[in-house]
Amino acid sequence: MTEDSAAQYELSRRYRDLQDEAQAVTAQVQSWSAEADEADHIHPKMRAALQASGLAAVMVPAAYGGRFGSVDSLAATVVREVLAAESAHLDSLFAMQGIGSFAISVAGTSPVRARWLPVIGSLDAIAALGLTEPHVGSDLRALSTTVVVDGDELVVDGHKSFITNAGDADVYSVLARDGDGYTLVCVPAATSGVVISHPHQIIAPHVLGDVVFDHVRIPLDHVIGQRGKGFPLVLQTLATFRVSVAGAAVGLAQRALDEALTHTAGREQFGVKVARLGPVPSMLALSWTEIEMARSLTYRAAAAAARDPLAALNLSSMAKVGATEVAGRVADRAVQVMGRFGLVRGSVIERIYRDVRPMRIYEGSTEVILDSLSKQLLKNRASA
Ligand SMILES: Cc1cc2nc3c(=O)[nH]c(=O)nc-3n(C[C@H](O)[C@H](O)[C@H](O)COP(=O)(O)OP(=O)(O)OC[C@H]3O[C@@H](n4cnc5c(N)ncnc54)[C@H](O)[C@@H]3O)c2cc1C
Repeated sequence: MTEDSAAQYELSRRYRDLQDEAQAVTAQVQSWSAEADEADHIHPKMRAALQASGLAAVMVPAAYGGRFGSVDSLAATVVREVLAAESAHLDSLFAMQGIGSFAISVAGTSPVRARWLPVIGSLDAIAALGLTEPHVGSDLRALSTTVVVDGDELVVDGHKSFITNAGDADVYSVLARDGDGYTLVCVPAATSGVVISHPHQIIAPHVLGDVVFDHVRIPLDHVIGQRGKGFPLVLQTLATFRVSVAGAAVGLAQRALDEALTHTAGREQFGVKVARLGPVPSMLALSWTEIEMARSLTYRAAAAAARDPLAALNLSSMAKVGATEVAGRVADRAVQVMGRFGLVRGSVIERIYRDVRPMRIYEGSTEVILDSLSKQLLKNRASA
C-alpha cells in the first residue's frame, strides 16, 4: 500500500496517538466507571482522570489552549469511540466540553472567549448547550425562551429541558427567541435567576436536568455571534459534532461484540461452543461486518467534517444514523446470543444495551435526519 492510499483509508499517526491517550484514560477509570455511569452528577474521579489526561483540550481552538487550530471533528470522533466503549459518563463529559462551547469558539466576543475557552479546555469549567424545552424538541423554531435588550444588558427568560450537565455546568450556550429571529447567548451558571431542577432520569443514567432562566441579566457582549443569527451557529455545532456521536456508537457496538464473543466462545451447549451453534455465527459475523461499515463511513465523514463541517453535514448525518442504528442492532444481538447472561443487571452488556438507545434520539433523531436527507436527495435530483 502506498502512503497516499493508507492516508485515505487508515487513521494517521496523530489520530491514533489520540486514541492511545484515550485508552490510557479508560484503563485508569475501569474500577469506578460503572459507578460513574449510574451518577446523576459529574463523578469527581472521572473528571479528575479526564482533566489529568489533557484530552478536553481537543474541544477548544489552539489559541485558547487547544490541540488543533480549530475544533477537529475527526479528533472528537476517534476519542469518543474509545471513551464510550468504557463509560457513557466519561464520553459525555468529554463531548459536552465541545458541544457546549463550540459556538463561543467560532463566534464569541473576545472577553467571553478569553473567560471561558481556556478553562473549558482544561476542564476547570464545565460547558452545556440549551436548546430543548419542555414542549419543543425536534421543532426548535417553536422555542419560547426569549432574550431582550434592556439598557446595557440582555435579559433571558425561559425554560430549557433535558440539558446535559445541567446543575454541574459553569456556563450555558442558550438559544432564545429574539424578536423575529433567534439568538445564542452565553449564560454563566452563577448568574442570579438561573434555577436548576432534575425532574427526569433516563434509562441510561446521564447528568441531565432542566434550567429555568428567570429574568436572568447578562452583559451585552454575551451575545454569541450576531443577534438573530443563532440558528446558523447551532447548525455549525451540529455539523462539527454530529459525526462524533457516530464515533461513540461504533465504540459501544465494538464493545458489545467483544462481550458477545467472549461469552459465546467460552460457553458450550449441546457439546458445541455457542459461537458455532445455529444462527449465532452469522449473528456475530453480521455484527462485525456492520461495525466495520459504520466505522469506515464514520471516519470518512469525520475527516470530511474536519476539513469543512458544513459541506460534510449530509455525510455526518448519514454516519450518525448509520452507526447509531448499527449499535442498536449489535447490542440487541449481543444480548440475544448471551442468553440470560445478557440480562444481568450491572453487567457491561446491560450498560451498552441501555446506552445505545438514546443515541438514536438526541442530536437529530433518526427520523428527522432521514427526512432532511430525503429532501436533499430530491433537491440533488432536481438540480441534476
Ligand atoms: C440523553 C439526552 C441528552 C440530551 N441532552 C441535551 C442537551 O444537552 N441540550 C439540549 O438542548 N437537548 C438535549 N437533549 C434533548 C434532545 O435534543 C431531544 O430529545 C431531541 O431533540 C428530540 O426531541 P424530543 O425528544 O422532544 O422528540 P420529538 O421532537 O418530540 O420527536 C418525537 C418523535 O417524533 C419524530 N419526529 C419529530 N419530528 C419529525 C419529523 N419532522 N419527521 C419525522 N419524524 C419526526 C422523532 O424522530 C421522534 O421519533 C437530550 C436528550 C437526551 C435523551
